[in-house]
Amino acid sequence: MKYVDAHCHVDLYEHPVAELEEAEACEVGVLAVTNAPFVFRSLLEMMQNRTDVWVAVGLHPELAGRYIHQLDQFKASLNETRFVGEVGLDYRVTEPSSHTVQRKVFESILDECRKRADTVVSIHSRGAEEDVVSMIGESFPGKTILHWYSGAKKHLMRAQSNGSFFSVNASMIRSTKGSKLVESMSRSRVLTESDGPFAKVRGKRAKPSEMPSTVAALAEMWGGEVEATRAMIASNWDAVLS
Ligand code: MN
Repeated sequence: MKYVDAHCHVDLYEHPVAELEEAEACEVGVLAVTNAPFVFRSLLEMMQNRTDVWVAVGLHPELAGRYIHQLDQFKASLNETRFVGEVGLDYRVTEPSSHTVQRKVFESILDECRKRADTVVSIHSRGAEEDVVSMIGESFPGKTILHWYSGAKKHLMRAQSNGSFFSVNASMIRSTKGSKLVESMSRSRVLTESDGPFAKVRGKRAKPSEMPSTVAALAEMWGGEVEATRAMIASNWDAVLS
């Protein structure tokens, strides 16, 4: 495995296995995030013979109220995987009345993860960056990855000093605001992601097999060699897994 897609909704493609076979052909390993606890087990079973996929149990903030009753199932799934996501908070596209339940769900998930040393958590923070960074805190025992970070630089810097990684995608690198944020990240904390099939690349659903081109875009932005950039991202992922 030479590349990583650290945030991909594999289960939401029309043909998940075909996407993964294409990713595998491009030597891309995939962190397969899920949006609700009931999805985890079936995806894990579908992926059980693959070595290039890590299946995560998640509860997306936009679905927090709808699936809060599955929190026990979420916690039980942590006996089967160290990977968690998509979880977090969203204050931009949700009703303010849902923010309390979102925080309750996210806090409960973080507390459960804190009982373990080796969780890897992919986190959504749109419009709620300050709360997300505060709730993770300074001494989270596992690894946290802020996915598609789009908030203020000051919260990014605080997350970084608390140990967080960042997964960045093609849309971020192409946008003025996103690329400024990526420039402010320590290169040793940067991972690549597709956020497919939600994210679009030139009007088409983003795919894990596009990670080599995302690495090339990062190399161009950083003014570095493509191979050195690829090796850096791969070693950052090794640091997440270690
Ligand atoms: Mn996502």
